[in-house]
Amino acid sequence: GLDLRGLLKRNWLLIATIVSVLLGIGLGVLVREYASLSQLDKQYFGFPGEMLMRMLKLVILPLIVSSMITGVAALDSEVSGKIGLRAVVYYISTTIIAVILGIVLVITIKPGVSQETDHIDRTGITPNVTTVDTLLDLVRNMFPENLVQACFQQYKTKRKELEPPSEVKVNTTTFPPLSTTVMATIFPPENITKDYKIVGSYSDGINVLGLIVFCVAFGLVIGKMGERGRILLEFFDALNEATMRLVQIIMCYMPVGILFLIAAKIIEVDDWEIFRKMGMYMVTVMTGLAIHSTICLPLIYFAIVRKNPYSFILGMAQALVTALMISSSSATLPVTFRCAEENLRIDKRITRFVLPVGATINMDGTALYEAVAAIFIAQLNNFDLDIGQIVTVSITATVASIGAAGVPNAGLVTMVIVLTAVGLPANDVTLIVAVDWLLDRFRTMINVLGDAYGAGIVQKLSVRELERMDVTSDVDLTNP
Ligand code: ASP
Repeated sequence: GLDLRGLLKRNWLLIATIVSVLLGIGLGVLVREYASLSQLDKQYFGFPGEMLMRMLKLVILPLIVSSMITGVAALDSEVSGKIGLRAVVYYISTTIIAVILGIVLVITIKPGVSQETDHIDRTGITPNVTTVDTLLDLVRNMFPENLVQACFQQYKTKRKELEPPSEVKVNTTTFPPLSTTVMATIFPPENITKDYKIVGSYSDGINVLGLIVFCVAFGLVIGKMGERGRILLEFFDALNEATMRLVQIIMCYMPVGILFLIAAKIIEVDDWEIFRKMGMYMVTVMTGLAIHSTICLPLIYFAIVRKNPYSFILGMAQALVTALMISSSSATLPVTFRCAEENLRIDKRITRFVLPVGATINMDGTALYEAVAAIFIAQLNNFDLDIGQIVTVSITATVASIGAAGVPNAGLVTMVIVLTAVGLPANDVTLIVAVDWLLDRFRTMINVLGDAYGAGIVQKLSVRELERMDVTSDVDLTNP
């Protein structure tokens, strides 16, 4: 018969997590109904959830550093090159599929056509950056100038508006008798081109990309160092094992943390009405995410790996629920590792190498969302996009998803790239901010699933190299 006991025993954490999500929603609704909490009370209420986030973020740094360095050092450079290439091909092609799917859906469903937009507040802060700035920041972050700083800060461009050139000012003041309206017609303000200066700034959050680039280089060097390199390799391997044991302990706290995270969110959100107004837009994004994760990715996985793609999803369930609850691919990474290695038994040489990179650059959910959101905004503005512009949207949405960091709402920031590329007002991201906390969770979940499928696929494509290495190499990361 059915071994219910064994099933419960093996999946107790997942079951506890799902129960805690449901309890959290219930608790949130109850507190909302029957208690009126002050701002401070709400913050206290969210404390157990805050603790979960802190613990997960705490292990990201040792996890990324140890897994990337050992992952790269344990493969010889030719093999790691091949595996890297396969991963990148997978990342880019699945991201483009997601974008195309999003575009097809948003064009057929037309969520933004003839929708009244006056209910939405268009005044907001002008995003302070342009496409070029964002792309340059991406590259800057790949090469951190200070490794220690990269462990807790990310570079972000800020623009500082400069005073208009002084001749212009003199001109405008040389006609004292003229009224300001006349002045404005003689010297329309657009003629005074604004000038900016880039002032570097740093924002919180690990510069994952910078660390990855460093660790790949460092790992390659260690791998080539022979005997002396072995010491470092073993050190980082032990660090990785120790960190994963910590992760295991943290995961026991997860149900409690998640219960309070979701309850606190439900108490905090004050505009539920907006969901009705933005309904079709959200339906479009969610439909896209659902199709991508239950049809496109599974098909690709099955075509290459020939194993059941849905039991793969079940194996990842813990990581997917986590992503849904915390909206961050990088903070989910510890759980992603555990699911991929323990449940799906993906080779550690692959996961260590491919998962951290995936969590940072491979974001199918974000790419799909960016494409849908940009075209939705175009529809709201009665702005007809021609084929060229739609192609531009797909390319920039791909780039924007690569540029987005794996932290909450990052995709919203890189939207600027897509909007400005087709001449839409960058300010209009403010139209979709109110519902982003919800969409962010779902797209993060799909981002994480895409990374995991990637690891499974790359492993399958690399069996031969991995087997060859098992014979020739004496470095063994596979069994601790
Ligand atoms: N929150 C997403 C992630 O961590 C990024 C995004 O905002 O789209 O994967």
